[in-house]
Amino acid sequence: MTLRRDQIIEIIAVGSELLTPYYQDTNSLFISEKLNDLGLRVSFKSVVGDDWGDLLKCIRAARARADLIFTIGGLGPTQDDNTREALATALKKELIFKENLWESIKNRFKKRGIPLASINRKQAHILEGAVVLDNKNGTAPGLWVESGSKTFILLPGPPAELKPMLEKAVLPKLKTIQKKYCFRGILKITGLTESMTESQVSDLYPAQDDHDLNLTILAYPGQIELHMCGYSDKSKHQARNKVKHLEKSIRERLQDKIFSDGKELEEVIGDLLIQNQATLAVAESCTGGLLGHRITNVPGSSQYFLQGVQVYSYDAKIKLLGIPKQILDSHGAVSAETSSRMALQIRKISQADYGLAVTGIAGPGGGTAKKPVGLVYTSLASKLGVITKKNIFLGNREIIKYRSSQKALDMLRRHLQNPTAYSFKRK
Ligand code: AMP
Ligand code: MG
Repeated sequence: MTLRRDQIIEIIAVGSELLTPYYQDTNSLFISEKLNDLGLRVSFKSVVGDDWGDLLKCIRAARARADLIFTIGGLGPTQDDNTREALATALKKELIFKENLWESIKNRFKKRGIPLASINRKQAHILEGAVVLDNKNGTAPGLWVESGSKTFILLPGPPAELKPMLEKAVLPKLKTIQKKYCFRGILKITGLTESMTESQVSDLYPAQDDHDLNLTILAYPGQIELHMCGYSDKSKHQARNKVKHLEKSIRERLQDKIFSDGKELEEVIGDLLIQNQATLAVAESCTGGLLGHRITNVPGSSQYFLQGVQVYSYDAKIKLLGIPKQILDSHGAVSAETSSRMALQIRKISQADYGLAVTGIAGPGGGTAKKPVGLVYTSLASKLGVITKKNIFLGNREIIKYRSSQKALDMLRRHLQNPTAYSFKRK
């Protein structure tokens, strides 16, 4: 087999369960990651059920458009495991019974002290000319099949069998054909939408025909990630330089919108609070504890996180935080006034250096023309006073809650990284 840079790769995940809402094809993610590390890109992925006709169509389509084809699953002993047989039919190859494979399957059962079913004989058959890929973790051997200019690599479905087989038997073989060094980099961004990010970095995208550097934008609620991958034939150092060069240009553009090169926002604020020897307390309404949950997900957060309160009701805001009733009556629970009071009060009560507060309407009900679903106020109180932001977030309840927590954490992050980022209102 000769592996070229322009080789087209396809992964076929076989299994009717993968076409239901209950089971995900995770194996192809693992295969893609490992191939990307070698500088190989996957062009197509298919998911097909166990139906014989569909499987045959899928294999034929892959053979027509790809050069290197991985199949996942369908190598088991049962009626619905047909990958080996369908490939033999598509390639017009014989299936040959291998005595040594049958022996090792029998031994596996003997070792475990369980009776061997005759249906397992199926797994001792290989396509003529195929190379067997040893399976130390199960009965289904993998197969490496070459047919003309096309190569098929058949892997078992259970991740605990597929992963070691790919790493021990497949990747070393591919590496001797394609030796590439890979370096990955990530930049995490908040406060910009996907399209805003894209438009700011669009001219920095590597050229389409540059196979040694790529940049991908991934969008999550409240967070955008830029994933960079550099490749080199010569050294890891050279692959790293390509990524670092691109990263420098992106940083110049996006500046403080970038909050980390890998860490989550709550980890970043944890590091910053420790560096500043500062403490934090939170008062939450619409996030219902999410903010405190995220902060305390970070090991060692007890060094800086003092307390959090969930003041969901009107009464709780009055009783636990001492927000004056007339503030709530005249401005409402979801208002800049209430939010800033919540931040100031939790800071005062806890004696923390910083107080963060969130109050808003997570929906789907409760919105009005003046105060729509997604209206969220976030406040940061410090010894300088308080700063409050009005936000309108889109999305369902869970997404609005997450975006709210992200915004509150980011206000603290920006202030800690650049004390002149906000001008606080004295109280
Ligand atoms: P099979 O080899 O088709 O009998 O698959 C055996 C088991 O492996 C299935 O029941 C799934 O639990 C798992 N499996 C199969 N394909 C995948 C896949 N693409 N990603 C993750 N798990 C899988
Ligand atoms: Mg299956």
